Amino acid sequence: MRDYKLVVLGAGGVGKSCLTVQFVQGVYMDTYDPTIEDSYRKTMEVDSKMFDLEILDTAGVAQFTAMRELYIKSGMGFLLVYSVTDRQSLEELIELREQVLRIKDSSKVPMVLVGNKADLLEERVISVEEGISMSSQWGKVPFYETSALLRSNVDEVFVDLVRQIIRNEMENHS
Ligand code: GDP
Ligand code: MG
Repeated sequence: MRDYKLVVLGAGGVGKSCLTVQFVQGVYMDTYDPTIEDSYRKTMEVDSKMFDLEILDTAGVAQFTAMRELYIKSGMGFLLVYSVTDRQSLEELIELREQVLRIKDSSKVPMVLVGNKADLLEERVISVEEGISMSSQWGKVPFYETSALLRSNVDEVFVDLVRQIIRNEMENHS
């Protein structure tokens, strides 16, 4: 069984932990300590193959740390998460993505752009179009809007990332 390391990145409060816990455990945790950085395991079938996923739910992206460099180095796929209710959180992803590309020293790193909290219609400040536009600027990085609360598009994001890693490995070994 293949072992894939995924890393969930994004500003504080965008829903990284809620998305991770919803994906791994199938429950929505409304209150989750924002300082907890933990890793989770889940076995998942994608295209009739089983994958053992190790998902690192990060916390505290404000400063650069050696720790961060280490887990980006060992990460094989990245979820870049913002909240559709928080413009700053989308802007913070620009620097984060650059950091990932720099540390991985590659322009083809499996990643997914995720606009979470899509259920909060009244509080939305970032349109779907803006998400699409960011994904185009990043060379058509796959983009999904999600709701950890409603469990919408949660599996889809992880499946997309796993498929990208599979493709990446095939290209690198051929
Ligand atoms: P993190 O700091 O990125 O890990 O953010 P959390 O996962 O802890 O989420 C912060 C808060 O945002 C949670 O306590 C929830 O109240 C809220 N939240 C997270 N995801 C969603 C979502 O999909 N919809 C709504 N309405 N609220 C969410
Ligand atoms: Mg968290």
